[in-house]
Amino acid sequence: MSDDSRSPLSVHTTLGLGGPARHLTTVTSVDEIVSGVRECVRDEQPLLLLGGGSNVVVADDGFPGTVLLIRSQGWDVKPDDAHVSVTVQAGHEWDEFVLAMTEQGFSGVECLSGIPGAVGATPIQNVGAYGQEVSETITAVTVYDRDEGGIRTFRNDECLFEYRHSRFKRAERWVVLDVTFRLRVDPLSGPIAYPELARRLGVGQGDRVPLAAARQAVLELRRGKGMVLDPDDPDTRSAGSFFTNPLVSGGYPPQAPSWPMPNGVVKVSAAWLIENAGFHKGYRRGLAAISSKHTLSLTNPAHGTTKDLLELGREIRDGVLDRFGITLHPEVVLVNCTL
Ligand SMILES: Cc1cc2nc3c(=O)[nH]c(=O)nc-3n(C[C@H](O)[C@H](O)[C@H](O)COP(=O)(O)OP(=O)(O)OC[C@H]3O[C@@H](n4cnc5c(N)ncnc54)[C@H](O)[C@@H]3O)c2cc1C
Repeated sequence: MSDDSRSPLSVHTTLGLGGPARHLTTVTSVDEIVSGVRECVRDEQPLLLLGGGSNVVVADDGFPGTVLLIRSQGWDVKPDDAHVSVTVQAGHEWDEFVLAMTEQGFSGVECLSGIPGAVGATPIQNVGAYGQEVSETITAVTVYDRDEGGIRTFRNDECLFEYRHSRFKRAERWVVLDVTFRLRVDPLSGPIAYPELARRLGVGQGDRVPLAAARQAVLELRRGKGMVLDPDDPDTRSAGSFFTNPLVSGGYPPQAPSWPMPNGVVKVSAAWLIENAGFHKGYRRGLAAISSKHTLSLTNPAHGTTKDLLELGREIRDGVLDRFGITLHPEVVLVNCTL
């Protein structure tokens, strides 16, 4: 465990925003994570867990408690018929894991290439992109239960995965220690489901391609949208998509791209709603801006403040509500601040 309490949290978030924490500790093993959490519970300290800081908006005032930076590393592979079961430590960098799996011929996470952050955060909001979601390959999530004070494992069906949601999202109780994925031993990707990805690969929807080709095409598409971290590209100083695509059961504009979901609800494109409410790529408010490449991504290109970013977020949310009567909800986790 190491104590690094003097640095502001902006150093540990991809937005480059956030004031200091009262205590900031780096933990590098399950034992260190558990004893760090137990100390906070004992001292009744507010606790914030951070992986890569790529899905959080932290207040300019920082965090009035302890931040644990989760940096446990490594994974363990077990053969499982024509599959492998891979248990990965929560602090391992997600894309390093994805790269290794595609290189070793393990299929199932290749379309999730290039997503920033750590493995332990991927079940939290059921990370997804380009037609894949981690809920399709996760078989188990091992957590420390802050309420009961013990370790337990949730099977996939107990994780309550939904679109960008699970039982772990915004629930302080669970601390993810490791995640187990079941991947196919196969040099080919799963069926390519996402039309834009199929076009980029020059294949039909439902076709399969070599894992390296799928990864490469996803990375190219993501780079074009500023969705791969790049210190030279201010559009990537973001937390990814700021809002989720709203799930509506009533009216929505018929021209908006939409996708039917279970239980009769429809998922509507938040990017379309935002653009058609008058907020275009590159739109600025104060020092915050909509990415010049991706409408859903709110960025901090000019070293502004969380206040700037939240004001932009509020303006967009209120503009969409006024124009279409649909409320956008943040995908990002707001820490010590509100929209
Ligand atoms: C450029 C860019 C592109 C992105 N693209 C995508 C995308 O395509 N698809 C997508 O789904 N997301 C995307 N994201 C969002 C983000 O990368 C993912 O949500 C990622 O999984 C967050 O990981 P993290 O380690 O950075 O989480 P953090 O931001 O550190 O934490 C996120 C939340 O999880 C909690 N948390 C973190 N670790 C643990 C743990 N071990 N146990 C319990 N709680 C924990 C935190 O307290 C916080 O509430 C993108 C972000 C950026 C900046």
